Amino acid sequence: MISNKIQDAINAQINAEFWSAYLYLSMSMHFEAEGRQGVANWFKIQFQEEQAHAQIFINYLNQRGGRVVLKAIDAVPTSWESPLDAFKATLEHEQKVTAMINNIYAIAEAENDYATRDRLNWFVTEQVEEEDNARQLIDKYAMIGDNGMGQYMLDQELAARVYNAPAALGE
Ligand code: MG
Repeated sequence: MISNKIQDAINAQINAEFWSAYLYLSMSMHFEAEGRQGVANWFKIQFQEEQAHAQIFINYLNQRGGRVVLKAIDAVPTSWESPLDAFKATLEHEQKVTAMINNIYAIAEAENDYATRDRLNWFVTEQVEEEDNARQLIDKYAMIGDNGMGQYMLDQELAARVYNAPAALGE
């Protein structure tokens, strides 16, 4: 059985993962409307990844005999100045998510809940990747600035991103 404190923290994290999914879908829709199909594709895949993160926590809580409680998802922003602006917002958001994961980890450590710690290890690694991806794209957009050819080529690069369901989803 899982403690109430960890159950509450994981339920809050499920809500945060769905909020992240909603944020990235909003970004995708914004850039779709702006004719930036590659950026829109990148964020649509990010939307799918965040839903998978929520599902991994849902599966875990159910496996531990906990109770998943779904709460309202807060509104998300709906427009961004540029792809650079959106990727900066992405990095800032992912840093907050990392802090949330670390906080649950600290609770699990205090409670000697080794199973939760083990499940969270996947998310710790995932967050390193999420922050690195956003940082690399910020660097690329900063590098090309207003150069039209650069913007076009980077959009093509982002259009090639495909969704792969994380292995942790099937565990
Ligand atoms: Mg996530």
